[in-house]
Amino acid sequence: MKITLIPGDGIGPDITAATLRVMEATGIKFDWEEKNAGEGAISKYGTPLPQEVIDSIKRNKIALKGPLTTPIGTGFRSVNVALRKELDLYANVRPTRTFKGVKSRYENIDLVVVRENTEDLYAGIEHMVGEDAAESIKIITRKGSERIARFAFDYAVKAGRKKVTVVHKANIMKCTDGLFLECARKISQEFPEIEFEDRLVDNMCMQLVQKPELYDVMVMPNLYGDIVSDLCAGLVGGLGMAPGANIGELAAIFEPVHGSAPKYAGMDKVNPSSMILSGVLMLEYMGEKEAADRVLKAVKEVIAEGKTVTYDLGGTAKTSEMAEAIVARM
Ligand code: NAD
Repeated sequence: MKITLIPGDGIGPDITAATLRVMEATGIKFDWEEKNAGEGAISKYGTPLPQEVIDSIKRNKIALKGPLTTPIGTGFRSVNVALRKELDLYANVRPTRTFKGVKSRYENIDLVVVRENTEDLYAGIEHMVGEDAAESIKIITRKGSERIARFAFDYAVKAGRKKVTVVHKANIMKCTDGLFLECARKISQEFPEIEFEDRLVDNMCMQLVQKPELYDVMVMPNLYGDIVSDLCAGLVGGLGMAPGANIGELAAIFEPVHGSAPKYAGMDKVNPSSMILSGVLMLEYMGEKEAADRVLKAVKEVIAEGKTVTYDLGGTAKTSEMAEAIVARM
């Protein structure tokens, strides 16, 4: 199976090496096509997003990616945003679950944020109006809203989930969020087996902090998804445990939620779980459910045991040592 591999910047190469070690241990034959993007690509290609990276992902249809530093002062607002737009990766899936052994206020969190990835205020269409005012345009389309709602319901059915909650602020943004809510309601009727409800985003944040066990799959516009998914990561022990997937019709990119944490670059220090769990999402997407379950079980066991875990989980193990412990469990 040919897969585009983007090790990324900062801590990217460390957690990528750890993830490859674990992926190879599944026994699946991967043919990694390694590509440079981000800060590391600028000296060689003069751009943080060389065309050959996009071509490789279009060809292989699946990529595993480390975090990229967004260089300041280039034409790119963010390489990640550019990649998602270029490949129309409209669905950003961010699962959150509690792991025994990771300090958290709750024991049984199992949530999935499905974030619309291409529209909303996050598209960054903004300008100054004279010198003393600024305007940002919030774009929500029927096409974009219906396809992300359908994605969320499809995901819920395939993952054996029970409920989809649409998150919005349609009481105030009656046109934009109103349209998003209307589309989600319409699509929900195609999935009578899945319970459907809606929540205002402010109330949703409070509910997640107080009663996260009430929620299951949540679907929301881009900016709320950005914020709410970090809130969810915080509920279960931080960014080192947070995987993500960007999925579209043309391709899918699997990557940790966190960034390149430059201060830990090359120290073999950070938690590789975010990227290994992104690898689990990739295996599930590839239909390799047994391998995905085996990796997930090994990650859970190593963390529950607590002997070979990284600093953020209260241990002293290096990134590579934690990966070896996971491989040994497999
Ligand atoms: P960051 O997510 O890189 O790091 C913030 C802090 O979180 C780190 O200092 C560290 O304490 C902790 N952390 C992150 N990952 C961890 C891990 N695996 N294990 C343990 N602790 C971990 O956020 P930042 O410092 O704001 O951003 C650094 C760079 O990353 C910026 O250039 C930003 O644009 C970029 N970024 C990239 C992506 C992406 O590639 N998808 C996402 C977010 C930020």
